[in-house]
Amino acid sequence: MTERLYYDDAYLWSFPAAVTAVFPAKKPGQWLVSLDRSAFYPTSGGQPFDTGRILFPGGEARVLDVEADPSGEVWHLVDREIPAGAEVRGEIDVLRRLDHMEQHGGEHMLAGAVWEKLGGTTIGLHLGAEDSTIDVTLPDERTHLTEEEITLLEDTVNDRIRLDAPIRCWFPDEEELASLPLRKKPTVTEHVRIVAMGDFEMVACGGTHPASTGRIGLVKITGVVPARGKVRIAFVCGGRAVRMFQRYMRAADKTGAALSCPVEKLSRAASELNSRLAEAERKARRFETQEILSRIREAESTADLRGVTLAAVNLEEMDTKAVAAAVSAYIEEPGKALLLESGGKLTFARSADVRIDMNELIRRVGRGGGRPDMAGGAGIPECVGVARKILMTEYR
Ligand SMILES: [Zn+2]
Repeated sequence: MTERLYYDDAYLWSFPAAVTAVFPAKKPGQWLVSLDRSAFYPTSGGQPFDTGRILFPGGEARVLDVEADPSGEVWHLVDREIPAGAEVRGEIDVLRRLDHMEQHGGEHMLAGAVWEKLGGTTIGLHLGAEDSTIDVTLPDERTHLTEEEITLLEDTVNDRIRLDAPIRCWFPDEEELASLPLRKKPTVTEHVRIVAMGDFEMVACGGTHPASTGRIGLVKITGVVPARGKVRIAFVCGGRAVRMFQRYMRAADKTGAALSCPVEKLSRAASELNSRLAEAERKARRFETQEILSRIREAESTADLRGVTLAAVNLEEMDTKAVAAAVSAYIEEPGKALLLESGGKLTFARSADVRIDMNELIRRVGRGGGRPDMAGGAGIPECVGVARKILMTEYR
């Protein structure tokens, strides 16, 4: 069983070890290596594996993945064969691990605050490439959080981080374990490892943790959504939270400059802009509707079609709502039949007193359908001319 050095020191970035076994991995050019002792963290408890290098006499191998088998042996997937029995040095990718410790530590603090302030039970941590998530069951089975609750959680956690309370990890004996005020029952019964973060959080965990709450840095909730009867809380911590703040500030500053308003007033400026835009669109649509109606009238022909006025018209691509409004207005008048194409979209329609089946007609010349008085579809501009010819022949 590999001795796990990160249990005692989560900041051990470089360590000597001996290779205990080497096997070729499934993928050619890769090997699985076990060491007598390792500071590489294997994926578990929602925290991803460490990467880094293993230096051996005559070379170095990159560590691509780390996994523990059920017997407790830690296997390092590497890109070079390392001689069995070799004395080696492991070196952890520091920034990747620090990032994981920040997200993982923040998750503990958040789960502790959710429990204390809202009585919520946290299950399942997913540490993602962008943000991380926890799923929370609230006592009243709610599947959302109010803005005030989100602020309360963030403020509670960030104040506790600023207090920089020590984080301690240890393996208690059975008697001590039974006396500890854990947030939830351990899922394992042997070798239970406890993490205590100041007085704010105490739970069983085998992961790597910062040495004190201050080293988590900053916790920001980024989203709250319902998930299978629970609340899924997404969040970022530490360096990720700082980088997110940088990105968001840049975006907010640029948007503020574009709208000529300070960042704090952006949402009001955006909603004002939206209502002005909606009003302008309504006006433009009214004009476009009038324009389409007059183009239809210009195309009217009173050739003998059982007294029906036929308008066959091809238009460039127009606003679909304006087309619909113009068509409706046109066929409100009695004795009208309309064959209209706009940007490849066909609308065939007629007044209530006209006995032409537009549904059947549109099917004969293009693709689509609808009701006898109004049908829509798609077709080439020539469809209108073909449909007109059919009417001129068959409805005389
Ligand atoms: Zn933990």
